[in-house]
Amino acid sequence: MSSRCRKETFLVQIGNRKEEHFRAVSTPIYFSTAYRHEEIGLQDGYDYIRTGNPTRDVLEEAVAELEGGDQAFATSSGMAAVQLVFSLFEKGSHFISSRDIYGGNYRLFELFEEKYGFEFSYWDGKSYEELKALRKENTKAIFIETPTNPLMQTVDLQKISAFAKQYHILHVVDNTLYTPFIQRPLEQGADIVIHSATKYLAGHNDLLAGLVISKGEKLSEELGFLHNSIGSVLSPYDCWSLIRGLKTLALRMRQHENNAQHVVDYLKRHPLVTDVYYPGRSGMLSFEIVDESLVSPFLKALKLFTFAESLGGVESFLTYPVTQTHMDIPEEVRITYGLSNRLLRASVGVEHGDDIVADLEQAFQAVEQLEVT
Ligand SMILES: *Cc1c(COP(=O)(O)O)cnc(C)c1O
Repeated sequence: MSSRCRKETFLVQIGNRKEEHFRAVSTPIYFSTAYRHEEIGLQDGYDYIRTGNPTRDVLEEAVAELEGGDQAFATSSGMAAVQLVFSLFEKGSHFISSRDIYGGNYRLFELFEEKYGFEFSYWDGKSYEELKALRKENTKAIFIETPTNPLMQTVDLQKISAFAKQYHILHVVDNTLYTPFIQRPLEQGADIVIHSATKYLAGHNDLLAGLVISKGEKLSEELGFLHNSIGSVLSPYDCWSLIRGLKTLALRMRQHENNAQHVVDYLKRHPLVTDVYYPGRSGMLSFEIVDESLVSPFLKALKLFTFAESLGGVESFLTYPVTQTHMDIPEEVRITYGLSNRLLRASVGVEHGDDIVADLEQAFQAVEQLEVT
């Protein structure tokens, strides 16, 4: 973070004092796809919307600073951010990835293997010896989600980046679940951070967006070239929308975290819950219900929680990874690392914590009623 101010202040002030012409507080949305040139060779700023846009610049500059990176690239989705990063590599490259990852990332990696001649090895995040053993001569990058999704396991990013530096491997971190408010991987030695900004950064379940943040001049330049060449850029309106979301990130994350802690305390004491996975920060947690047959009636009984497939928004969500976010991971694969049919993932929202717990309580009571009758 800039030494000038704290995270909370920085977030709220994004875009303010940037527009000099009318001194607009809220960042103007520049929809124009083209910019007039006075004469040949006279170029003072913008040419064409894909290459650069003033609204996107405000967002990217702020996000680069937030993550402690040199440059940021706003993309049309989180998956487009992953695709942008992997377009750095040539066919025949090998990668190491966290085992327990977002299902969409796994699906894309499978596609990369089939079509791009990439090869992936998966690491369970537990043994660093095993991580070293997975490395090959052609290992080009290590892709880490921490906490993992949906099992919420964390890893030591500094250890991984020491390993990556030793072997000249690029260290990429998906920071979607923690956000830079909690964790700044580039400060711990990572080279690239990616986000599904659709989640906490935007925060309102109304925007699809992604981000890539890089450290280092050469890498940033390369990513900038690819961002423009591929064209998976975020639209000006969506950039503005994301800026607005970011302004309340600190407030939201605190409330998400307080509420999640409240839910964890409740679930840990519940007889129908066998395990609770919570990394200690943020608003994401998973838990296992004692019997698979209770999952469906439990979800049906919820009144405040929305049974839906996303995370990080102000509204509380419950997700069933097996049929939703992680349905593309074969059962025989996910069972080996603990993603069971009894697992539910909660994105705890910013409603009042007591109301959130009360909803879980009434849903458990409804399920217990079923068990009795
Ligand atoms: C949602 C998500 C993605 C994909 O992002 P989209 O914005 O949906 O394209 C990637 N990584 C993680 C951890 C996610 O939760």
